[in-house]
Amino acid sequence: MKNLDKILSEFDNNPNRLMDILLSIHDEQGYISKTDMIQIALATGRSFAEIQETVSFYHFFSSKPRGKYRIYLDNSITACMRNRDGVKETFENLCETKFGEVSGDGTFGLFNTSCIGMNDQGPAAIINDVVFTNLTPYRVKQLVSGMREGLPVKELIYENYGDGNNSDPDVQAMVINNIRKKSVILKRDYEPFSVLNNGIKEKSPEEIIKTVEESNLRGRGGAGFPTGLKWRFGRRVEGKHRVIICNADEGEPGTFKDRVLLTEYPELVFEGMVLGAYATGADIGLLYLRYEYKYLLKFLNRKLSEMRKNNFLGKDIAGIKDFNFDIRIQLGAGAYVCGEESALIESLEGKRGEPRDKPPFPVEKGYLGYPTIVNNVETFATVVKIINRGAQWYRSFGTKDSLGTKLLSISGDCKFPGIYEVEWGISLKEVMEMCGADNVQAIQVGGPSGMLIGSKDIDSLNKSEMLKWYKPSGMMVAEKYFDRKLSYSDLPTGGSIIIFNKERDLLRDVVMNFMDFFIEESCGSCSTCRVMPMVMKKKLHKILNGHGVRQDIEDLLNWGKVLKASRCGLGQTAGNPILSSLVNFRHLYEEHVKSLADFDTCFDMEKAIKESSNFVGRKPVLHHL
Ligand code: SF4
Repeated sequence: MKNLDKILSEFDNNPNRLMDILLSIHDEQGYISKTDMIQIALATGRSFAEIQETVSFYHFFSSKPRGKYRIYLDNSITACMRNRDGVKETFENLCETKFGEVSGDGTFGLFNTSCIGMNDQGPAAIINDVVFTNLTPYRVKQLVSGMREGLPVKELIYENYGDGNNSDPDVQAMVINNIRKKSVILKRDYEPFSVLNNGIKEKSPEEIIKTVEESNLRGRGGAGFPTGLKWRFGRRVEGKHRVIICNADEGEPGTFKDRVLLTEYPELVFEGMVLGAYATGADIGLLYLRYEYKYLLKFLNRKLSEMRKNNFLGKDIAGIKDFNFDIRIQLGAGAYVCGEESALIESLEGKRGEPRDKPPFPVEKGYLGYPTIVNNVETFATVVKIINRGAQWYRSFGTKDSLGTKLLSISGDCKFPGIYEVEWGISLKEVMEMCGADNVQAIQVGGPSGMLIGSKDIDSLNKSEMLKWYKPSGMMVAEKYFDRKLSYSDLPTGGSIIIFNKERDLLRDVVMNFMDFFIEESCGSCSTCRVMPMVMKKKLHKILNGHGVRQDIEDLLNWGKVLKASRCGLGQTAGNPILSSLVNFRHLYEEHVKSLADFDTCFDMEKAIKESSNFVGRKPVLHHL
């Protein structure tokens, strides 16, 4: 590649900046060739194999050309519920190629991609880094004809730019925010940087940590680790540098609240990072932005520049002697597993995003071996409001065991999808009322790695038939009703809520989609995570095809337990779509299991012999049957 030397020197041939080097090459020529990889290896001192394994790991990197127009169509379940198949078919017909391939003339590359954080406005696609939402076959026709004319992709946007900062000159995206309910974080009752401007000098780092501890704020990414405690650990560990990382790799299907926070409240997020740095003594700040949100990069970098000008980043921040800290945004390249903090750190160091063995935990030994504190976007935004108004104020929201508020990303079968800031303790029934959902069959709480919750309403089912099938453990699921509450003691969630009405085929469409997601996103390190989701999916197929026996259900339950031995959360939860639907919707499985026998009595020997005879080109011999 022509400019490769220039790119390499821009990043000082630094192997830890490999992601940026690869992203720059990708930006310029759309792929990273073998020759490029050899040159990068020589310049950075990493082996060719290491470069190649990084390139091959991420969805948006490729070692071969992917077409002049690279079209990545989101395959999340909510997109599928809104005629993604029709959109896909239209793309294939008009681009004259199939998904996973590049058209013969090299114009179009069609690719499936996991959730791109647009569930409230899908089906959506990313074409040469520009986001297109609410796709229909008609709009695809317009898009493809514009591309055939050779128009720049940005000119093909068929609606006005979105609301708020989506219309900012540095964003210009047709994405909309859909903010429906505001509380602690989203209310515009705070002048950005007030805490840094006014309050911080009077407070010691210890006082900041104490306030966060007293607020009982827990990590909002989903894991729920107490933020104050994490900061206290981080401050204690000795290191030449300390690092604050904001995890903006929002990849759980159905979640898009961090996208909205970064669009409309970036100052709050960055101020939270600066407060974290002050409290823990960190001097390096990194925000890991998922590739799907690349359209926000220029805008966010502008916000950081403004902060530098106003002395909220850099040296002696806010007039505090020796408080030096800055933030760099690192773009990812498409990998759900990088949401796991140690995988994210590996990626930041320019490697495959494979989770590390723990201990040591990142807080002891993280980015480049330094003590590293990783928090979610929402967590940092919340911290600012807590420091501004105090822990006692914050404790007045939520419930005893789950204090404060939570941002929900609601999508699926409801009238008002979007972002809702609710107090912890809200019931699923209230969530349904709030977003205008009726005729609800199930709610997926926490994305595919979470739980599929059913209703108390079993009127549509034949109860005596159910009783015949249900085991006592199956009956217990009847407790899992829509009056369950979102809280750390009942239904914890990172914020993804997907609603399914009674017309949806939960097993064939929803569970299968979620299993495909985990199969696609496994990093492949652990045999359990690499193999079991596929085996479980095949078993589910067998059941849905009418060949299931009772033992198959028991196998699924047992195999789900095997997955718990996986190294990281992805593998540990990869069986959840099947396990939680088995617990809460067992009758759906048993409807398909036609026989109580232990063997598959549906096997048709005659048909199988005919099929195999046809395959090998022989005449079937059936007289002995
Ligand atoms: Fe990789 Fe899955 Fe193992 Fe996690 S559980 S390390 S994603 S193989």
